[in-house]
Amino acid sequence: PDCGIPQLLRDAAAKHPDRPALYFLGKKTAYRRLLADVNRMAAALSSLGIAKGDRVAIMLPNCPQAVTAYFGALSIGAIVVQTNPLYMERELEYQLADSGASAIVTLDLLYPRLSRVRGERPESGPLPELKHVIVTSLKDALPFPKNALYPLKQRKEGFRADIPYGRMGVYAYRRLLAGAAGEPPEVPLDPAADLALLQYTGGTTGRPKGVMLTHRNLVANTVQTAAWCYRTVGGSERFLAALPLFHVFGLTVLMNYSVLRAGLLILLPRFEPDAVIKTIRQKRPNIFPGAPTMYVALNHHQDARTADLSSIEVCISGSAPLPLDVQERFEKLTGGRLIEGYGLTEASPVTHANPIWGLRKIGTIGVPFPDTDAAVVDPATGEPVPAGEIGELVVKGPQVMQGYWQRPEETALALKGGWLHTGDLATMDADGYFTIIDRIKDVIIAGGFNVYPREVEEVLYEHPAVREAAVVGVKDAYRGETVKAFIVLRDGWQVSRPQLDRWCRERLAAYKVPHLYEFRDSLPTSMVGKVLRRKLLEEEES
Ligand code: ATP
Repeated sequence: PDCGIPQLLRDAAAKHPDRPALYFLGKKTAYRRLLADVNRMAAALSSLGIAKGDRVAIMLPNCPQAVTAYFGALSIGAIVVQTNPLYMERELEYQLADSGASAIVTLDLLYPRLSRVRGERPESGPLPELKHVIVTSLKDALPFPKNALYPLKQRKEGFRADIPYGRMGVYAYRRLLAGAAGEPPEVPLDPAADLALLQYTGGTTGRPKGVMLTHRNLVANTVQTAAWCYRTVGGSERFLAALPLFHVFGLTVLMNYSVLRAGLLILLPRFEPDAVIKTIRQKRPNIFPGAPTMYVALNHHQDARTADLSSIEVCISGSAPLPLDVQERFEKLTGGRLIEGYGLTEASPVTHANPIWGLRKIGTIGVPFPDTDAAVVDPATGEPVPAGEIGELVVKGPQVMQGYWQRPEETALALKGGWLHTGDLATMDADGYFTIIDRIKDVIIAGGFNVYPREVEEVLYEHPAVREAAVVGVKDAYRGETVKAFIVLRDGWQVSRPQLDRWCRERLAAYKVPHLYEFRDSLPTSMVGKVLRRKLLEEEES
């Protein structure tokens, strides 16, 4: 459909008003109710003076209010700024100032952090544009009652005393929605031109940039994903939403996809293996998009073998490479298909995936999505390289961003020649399957040789004692950079440095073999479970 995102919800609610849309903490919300809440949210935001093009930040873990706030803000043409609830003051301030958000919807537990950023006098603090703060609590997750006495009931339950409701532009979510007229203003949307989202990049390699995605970008990627999975789960989509919705991967493959298909979104506030296993057993989801570290954690869970996980039919793994043994084990546990895909924030995010039933090539990211062109080019000249050779992956398609928010120079570089330059090195084989080699920025140049950290990590992952591995280049007076490996061992296993060294030497050219090892209990990861090599490097340099 060529429409705005809110239309997807209106269609789902018109066709299937009584179907459950959300499941959270034992409560179901039907599509009819979700749309009513969204309309109230839209009306409430509009009554605060928020209009088309204004930025509305959402800083929430997965919960029904995150869904309501998202569709509500989009309904009045506002641009959603997704904000990671784990952000500390400095990160929060940067993102809110950069986006110029005029409102934020957040959780009471997170309010103190936001309040420290805004200061005692918000109008003269670092975020003068942020006029409205809408504060919800996990209790508000219960479906919104029709009953107009609701605010009274809430008063009895009591608000948190440390939040200045009614002052400094701070509003209680429930009260605001209760007081809002049911029907929001009609705001026409142009799907191709109107921005829906400013999605800040993961910041794995630098300062986060606001990626501008239109309604059409998001709808396109949602339809592409749904088409990919249609033959397996079409007609009965039940999503296990353990990925965060505030990341573009979860936003598209969970929230938007579910609403497009009038499916059920089973929301988990965070990824927690016990809760995931219990949810699969009880709620029988059939789609579970995730990141490799999630599947690793489940594979190692004590109940994984005994619990009935057979409802899972499709898992799409993205955001980082999926090791073969992780895939095999997880498929054995569930009987479903776990496919590796690839994407980046700048492409809403999915551009490639392995087919679910066609030819899967393990270790590759598969083929481009429908309507998506991809090529591997020489980073210096921009010319395509022959099949099998390494170059930069570039993509083109309806899901590709408009650019970076207020960064014309970086936009021009990223979209040079009409192609999105991914910053990833890849190869394409004769069948058109792509393999990611590594990020251009992470390539280690050791004594003049290129070392791709991922290749070394894969060799380490194959060692039976290794649970996780991350490889970075550290400064070295002699070689320029030298290869260092960070290792997390599997429970109950031990291995010495010389043993690992021998393992690597037997499998890698000498210049790729790590010179340094560090054993850790865990590795720093992003919210989608991507190992943050940059953080390891920062620690190394500090
Ligand atoms: P930043 O752009 O701020 O540095 P980031 O790159 O982590 O952060 P995202 O858009 O979340 O931001 O991640 C996209 C990147 O994730 C891709 O460019 C690629 O490097 C990596 N990636 C995604 N899927 C895969 C995959 N299947 N295999 C290997 N790498 C992947």
